Amino acid sequence: MLTMKAGKVSFEESIAEAVIKTGKCVGCGTCVLVCPFSCLEYGEERPNLVKECKVCGICAQACPQYDFPLSKIENFVFGRERKPDEAFGIYRRLALARATDKQILEKCQDGGAVTTLLLFALRNGIIDGAIVAKSEREKPFYPHPTLATTTDNILQAAGTKYFYSPNILAIAKALEQKIGKVAFVGTPCQIRAVRKMQFAGLKKYVTPLKFLIGLACSECFIYDGLMKQHIIGKLGVDPNCIKKVNIKGKMLLTLESETVAIPLTEAKQYARKNCRLCEDFSSELADISVGGLGLEGWTFVIIRTGQGEELFSNAEKAGAIITKEASAETNALNLLTKLSGKKRTAAKEVAK
Ligand SMILES: Cc1cc2nc3c(=O)[nH]c(=O)nc-3n(C[C@H](O)[C@H](O)[C@H](O)COP(=O)(O)OP(=O)(O)OC[C@H]3O[C@@H](n4cnc5c(N)ncnc54)[C@H](O)[C@@H]3O)c2cc1C
Repeated sequence: MLTMKAGKVSFEESIAEAVIKTGKCVGCGTCVLVCPFSCLEYGEERPNLVKECKVCGICAQACPQYDFPLSKIENFVFGRERKPDEAFGIYRRLALARATDKQILEKCQDGGAVTTLLLFALRNGIIDGAIVAKSEREKPFYPHPTLATTTDNILQAAGTKYFYSPNILAIAKALEQKIGKVAFVGTPCQIRAVRKMQFAGLKKYVTPLKFLIGLACSECFIYDGLMKQHIIGKLGVDPNCIKKVNIKGKMLLTLESETVAIPLTEAKQYARKNCRLCEDFSSELADISVGGLGLEGWTFVIIRTGQGEELFSNAEKAGAIITKEASAETNALNLLTKLSGKKRTAAKEVAK
């Protein structure tokens, strides 16, 4: 299925040369996950070659930033390629969703659609666990790839951490623990990585993944810059006092009794450079994509595949989420179209 370019080629010739050297590596960790000889280790948001490469070529087959055959993968996932007017990828239905469970609403980022779908799937035996991003009190909002197998763990991982979490690495935990049915939550680059592994037939890693929830993502930020230098250093805000970080035109830090706003132009100086080469805003290859898109208390949901549609409509029928037509929020829909185009154009410019 794969092109010759991604055949038996060494890590040095493929990923090191064409992805890392060119600044295209998103740090997803897929190459580290699939290397059958453990030649790669993950550190400083990138793969590091720690043993002589055995030239099996598997890392290049899996890397979403190396020779990514988008139209073939669209055909593989959706049975067709996108049409030129499908600005944010192929979909079946658009909706606004909000959790009905108060506990979820207290912890989630927007409308809690992601956490609700994960808990609905867990309670109904569709999954035995979910790959999510959790942070600890010692380093608030710094995400760790986590395999959550209980209601509590999924709930604890709710909410957005605007820093990079290589969730792909937690697939190894699912394999180790022999968890057979797993949901995957990730950023667009990670959804592309999973689809490339599926397309390449790397069954061992993808068989447990039952559905993919893709987050909309403009970019991730650098923790040392945004959190340490700016929020703690310049603004004097203790991260343990921050209840929530959200972006709604500005970056908003919700504290106990006030909200601190950081203009996006200021926050963006701490954006990860490698995100500038990513052209996918809305996780265009996920089963279900989600974003906040300026909404308050609702998640904008893009249902893309039949699998995604079945899960979403069952959660809706069971009353786990309430929904509204997306057409009720033209601003969000316009923003989705605008940000999708902007990210694609910007990535092409940077790649020139
Ligand atoms: C880095 C980042 C940038 C984003 N940028 C935008 C944007 O520009 N525009 C927009 O509309 N939406 C953006 N989003 C998506 C948005 O913040 C919400 O995640 C989305 O609306 C779902 O809300 P929810 O209440 O349904 O999710 P919740 O129910 O709160 O669930 C969120 C899920 O995402 C997981 N998660 C949190 N942080 C990460 C992370 N860093 N990596 C992987 N998984 C994570 C959590 O573990 C949880 O399972 C971004 C998300 C991230 C992580």
